Amino acid sequence: MLNQLTISELAARLGRREVSAREATQACLDQIQRVDGKIHAFISHDAADALAQADAADKLLSNGGRGASRPLLGIPVAVKDVLAVKNQPLNCGSKILGKFISPYDATAIEKLKAAGAIVFGRLNMDEFAMGSSTENSAFGVTRNPWDITRIPGGSSGGSAAAVAADECIASLGTDTGGSIRQPAALCGCVGLKPTYGRISRYGLVAFASSLDQIGPFTKDVRDAATLLGVMSGHDLRDSTSVPQPVPDYAAALTGDIKGLKLGLPKEYMIGGLDPEVKAAVDAAVKQLEKLGAEIVEISLPHTDYAVATYYIIATAEASANLARFDGIRYGARVDGNDPIELYSKTRGAGFGPEVKRRIILGTYVLSSGYYDAYYLRAQKVRTLIRNDFLKAFEKVDAIVTPTSPTAAFKIGEKSDDPLQMYLSDIFTISCNLAGICGVSVPCGFTKNPKLPLGLQLLGKPFGEETMLRVAHAYEQSTSWHQAKAAL
Ligand code: GLN
Repeated sequence: MLNQLTISELAARLGRREVSAREATQACLDQIQRVDGKIHAFISHDAADALAQADAADKLLSNGGRGASRPLLGIPVAVKDVLAVKNQPLNCGSKILGKFISPYDATAIEKLKAAGAIVFGRLNMDEFAMGSSTENSAFGVTRNPWDITRIPGGSSGGSAAAVAADECIASLGTDTGGSIRQPAALCGCVGLKPTYGRISRYGLVAFASSLDQIGPFTKDVRDAATLLGVMSGHDLRDSTSVPQPVPDYAAALTGDIKGLKLGLPKEYMIGGLDPEVKAAVDAAVKQLEKLGAEIVEISLPHTDYAVATYYIIATAEASANLARFDGIRYGARVDGNDPIELYSKTRGAGFGPEVKRRIILGTYVLSSGYYDAYYLRAQKVRTLIRNDFLKAFEKVDAIVTPTSPTAAFKIGEKSDDPLQMYLSDIFTISCNLAGICGVSVPCGFTKNPKLPLGLQLLGKPFGEETMLRVAHAYEQSTSWHQAKAAL
């Protein structure tokens, strides 16, 4: 079925004119119709608009318009509800934005469209990307395609579930502390968080600006490389995007990793790690060795402080970023007798409990008297964490870890215990604090029930080529990425 194809498979068929973009898009829409009642990956989608884009793509295809500048011509890509797509709703999984329609495209979206993609749908997420399970959405929970009694991970749970359920060919998500890699692991797809500054954040509604990055969810590593190449690059509208040349990421996927040094952080094989996760990662490490990589034990000594550091910095930045949703500049207004009452009624009614918890925490750590004790200290620890990685990367080309300490947990299992929920990001958070890149690739399944597991590879700042080379070589030597959930 066309909706099950990868970008490269579908692009080849479209290029040979064996199939049309309309047929491929219709196949995705039919799959949504068939399974999304169970999964609820999409908050909404506009089928007519998707088909109109497909028809435009078909016209270009028949005029020989694919070419090198349009590697995504006719490929349906769905989008997390935190990225601005012109004339589409933008809710960030929250009630507070009401009926807001985006007046412009995010830079990453603009680039996808310029490359010919059919950009459609609003994918469910934890409100303002705060969460690890997609249970914190004002639009209901998303379910894991491998077991609908379980969470798909978060915060980009809709993006992961939609790709795993073949409701689109690929999708976009965002990653502040693991929100691409963790749901990718839990749903059995590939999820890539690029180096901070690699992709412009213009048009991404900010959660924690020094940590947020946009990235792809795909069915294989090659597709992730393709989307990364399309979306990367300097943007005058985001001063944190870096003017580094964009390499040909697909060309880096040589399959040859002989002689590469891969670091195994001794601090990551910890107590809370599920035995089946550990076994799968151990087997993956053996496989990498078989492919010719050299495994080196490394130390990231400040790992223990990562979760605490993250929850100070991320909440501090969130409390500042979310101040704009006040019912005057942004937000569905609830009137009051004076501005203060208007603000508090608007924010009280619009934000869900997790967002409120984070705003209160963030405001506290920034308040005078506590700023030095919490925020400033967290910034210092952040530097130590980054230095741990830079030091490790003097010895190794990439780092191997589990993506998540457990497979997908049950819906409701951790929702009353924020601390337990926060611990599900223990292996992904440091990467954002350090500003480096990371990718999760499927590396096996638990036995009973059968749930996907992810292997995380971490790369140097702007070291996506080597990181993806390792991920690709591993993936191609296994068949985990080809397994499909029974739906
Ligand atoms: N789960 C983490 C959090 O709740 C990370 C979220 C994200 O990466 N957006 O903050």
